[in-house]
Amino acid sequence: MRIDLHCHSTASDGTDSPAELMRAAGRAGLDVVAITDHDTTAGWTEAAAALPPGLRLVRGAELTCVSEDGRGGHCTVHVLAYLFDPAAEAVVTEYARTRAERRTRLHTMATRMAADGYPVDPHTLLAAIPDDVPAGRPHLAQALVRAGIVGSVTEAFTKLLHGRDGYYVPSDKTAVRDAIAMIKAAGGVTVLAHGFAHRRGPTINAAVVADLVRHGLDGVEIDHPDHDEQSRDELRSLAVKHDLVVTGSSDYHGTNKTIAIGAETTAPAMLDAIAERATGAKILEG
Ligand code: AMP
Ligand code: ZN
Ligand code: FE
Ligand code: FE
Repeated sequence: MRIDLHCHSTASDGTDSPAELMRAAGRAGLDVVAITDHDTTAGWTEAAAALPPGLRLVRGAELTCVSEDGRGGHCTVHVLAYLFDPAAEAVVTEYARTRAERRTRLHTMATRMAADGYPVDPHTLLAAIPDDVPAGRPHLAQALVRAGIVGSVTEAFTKLLHGRDGYYVPSDKTAVRDAIAMIKAAGGVTVLAHGFAHRRGPTINAAVVADLVRHGLDGVEIDHPDHDEQSRDELRSLAVKHDLVVTGSSDYHGTNKTIAIGAETTAPAMLDAIAERATGAKILEG
């Protein structure tokens, strides 16, 4: 059994449509795939309709959250949410709020770049992003690639869109405890995504993970392309200590990143544990 529980489609910042994502999962020989677009469930229906025979679909999302970092500051935390009711009122309200806020924020970033002479038009950029797609830096990065300013999305991030210069504007994220509570109330399960990916910037520590577990976190993603061996070991001990579900996944983004679908995988027993903890929706069969 090959199981990949963290993949993005064009419903957020991947390059495969939800249907293409299902076909890519099938071609890669996966038995189970999760669609986990950032802060949206907009790809679920198309993905479910495109499931090839034998492939199972876990409907999910990757929620962009903010946490106290245990040192008096804050840091961004991504939470994978699985098998929740997408129509739950708290979920709908929060993600309508963050999607609107992300559009304003991306508009501000593009306006700053235009003011410095970069050929990006904030209005055109936003008009091309559907309302149910969370606007993000990858969209601005693609516009910069199309304008010939950089050669790739990755280069746009390294040179212009990283968090250390004048073009970056932080987004107003969901408090991680609220995210865990709202997903639990909606029947779902939560797993901390790439929790110790230190290369990405400030991450939370073991004490904060313990606090999230007290607030209902179900699991941690251990095998992730951005985790080195030390991070994996540390997370493995935390998982044993707190009796957590552990997952491994590629965080596939199509051609926006270089990682192949299925590059990291989750053990079947862990998928069973997720399905058992979910009180509502079930895994779909193709
Ligand atoms: P945002 O939420 O708008 O701040 O953008 C964050 C998104 O950009 C995340 O979903 C990442 O997948 C993507 N991202 C972050 N860093 C990079 C990078 N160096 N190259 C490509 N994509 C990135
Ligand atoms: Zn992404
Ligand atoms: Fe993430
Ligand atoms: Fe992701």
